[in-house]
Amino acid sequence: ELGAMQDWSLRVMRLVDHAEREHAEGEIVSAWANGTITRTNWKEVGRDARRMAQALEAWGIKPGDRVATLAMNHAHHLTAWYGAIGMGGILHTINPRLFDDQLEYIANHAEDRVLLYDHAFAPLVEKMKPRWTSIEYYVCFDPPADWQGDISFTDWIAGQDGIYEWVDGDERDPCALCYTSGTTGNPKGVLYEHRSTMLHTLAEAAPDVFNLSARAVVVPIVPMFHANAWGIPWAAPLTGCKLVLSADYRPAQMCKLFHDEKVSHSAGVPTIWLGMIEHIERTGEGLGSLQYVTIGGSAAPRAMIKWFRDRGVQVGHAWGMTETSPIGSMGAPPHGWESLSDEQQMGYICRQGRVPFGIEHRIVDDAGNVLARDGKESGRLQVRGPWVVKRYFKEEHDSLTPDGWFDTGDVAILHADGTMQITDRSKDVIKSGGEWISSIELENAAVGCPGVAEAAAIGIPHPKWDERPLLICVKAPGSDVCADRIRDHLSAHVARWWLPDAIEFVDELPHTATGKLSKKTLRETFSDYRFA
Ligand code: ADP
Repeated sequence: ELGAMQDWSLRVMRLVDHAEREHAEGEIVSAWANGTITRTNWKEVGRDARRMAQALEAWGIKPGDRVATLAMNHAHHLTAWYGAIGMGGILHTINPRLFDDQLEYIANHAEDRVLLYDHAFAPLVEKMKPRWTSIEYYVCFDPPADWQGDISFTDWIAGQDGIYEWVDGDERDPCALCYTSGTTGNPKGVLYEHRSTMLHTLAEAAPDVFNLSARAVVVPIVPMFHANAWGIPWAAPLTGCKLVLSADYRPAQMCKLFHDEKVSHSAGVPTIWLGMIEHIERTGEGLGSLQYVTIGGSAAPRAMIKWFRDRGVQVGHAWGMTETSPIGSMGAPPHGWESLSDEQQMGYICRQGRVPFGIEHRIVDDAGNVLARDGKESGRLQVRGPWVVKRYFKEEHDSLTPDGWFDTGDVAILHADGTMQITDRSKDVIKSGGEWISSIELENAAVGCPGVAEAAAIGIPHPKWDERPLLICVKAPGSDVCADRIRDHLSAHVARWWLPDAIEFVDELPHTATGKLSKKTLRETFSDYRFA
């Protein structure tokens, strides 16, 4: 041997070992559904995760078995992640907002053996119990004092001494499972591995990604069942940042938490921030110490980015999907940022950012030809890297192109400066006269019109043009905005032939279980719509 370096497998539990040693007092704050606040730290989370691993083994749960959670964000849920993985189990985070049929499908498909759930979802759990065929054990995270139901998390782990060695194994072993909501067909499971999770976590903390450090106070306003809360619960023990978890996303509660806990970093989908902005505009409350917000999951509207910038908050515009763990790109200020004009900076952040090390992007046309990164051509966005899905859970075949790329189903432009710009989902582009109209750009332009709270654009069949855009808007509370005013506003921002043929108003737009506009539902609702 010429020499050698040590073998140190990239296993997730090393995060807890590290945090217990180096950030033992690192704070984890939970704001529970009933309004109480509790505090714990990595020493206690590590101890309780060990006790939970012992309790699972006492029930005969084996490495590789699926342990599911149906819960919002709080410290017991965090402990349960590490307890399940610590004994070699696969953590399956279930989204409680899914329809009953989907809930039935994914728990049975995953063959979950244990389910840990929030008391708030107890009625849902009772309803689903007869339909879930593989779950043998139920644990309630936060039952009230007079609860007569399933064992409580605290009681369950109380009998264990916490003297326990994490189950070791290969870094390519699976550690977590997350199903995509699936806009068509059954939901598909993405099986994360220890190694993929660790590499993703290392990338996430970096300054140009989530910019996390021991000085940060972080609140994910993205649920732990949505692509692992974008990886923040893994990055917290890595960095030793203070982690604030909230089970309640109502803007007033979140604002109070921002102030009380001196939150510096937060992350959420645009719908969350819309609610927050509306609340702050109405009440005059501030954002406290907030310095850095990550917006992703759907395109961040220009007006939203500007709102944060005007208040001195740096916006990181992120793109990703469950299949990419989820970070696929992030917009952080590039070299020469200070010399850009305000307009140029805005334009930069409106795009979906650059890739961190570990992800590669390319765009292809319908025939699979790779297109130029010239800022002009748009094509299907494909990605590859060590935290991108290769094969869905229990599938027989890889979900990759013959040359090893994952097709995201998004349509994008790649710019020469390395930024990526999502122009649509391939299912959502409006095809008019052989050209593509970006529904996302129309929507973003529309919400920039004062008085428009939310907007959705869909294609409606048209005898001459194939499809033409219909814009569906929700007015802001108290606004008297009308179709003509929106059309005037749009004409200043999009090409003339992109202007919607009609603008309709609704009280509310449908959203998916992960808080995105549900174009599928809208297309169904407006399936008989014809332009006058
Ligand atoms: P689902 O919501 O369907 O369960 P994901 O949460 O994995 O699935 O969503 C991934 C999709 O969300 C991407 O393919 C893309 O269409 C959309 N998306 C995510 N981030 C952005 C963004 N910053 N801009 C535009 N679209 C985005």
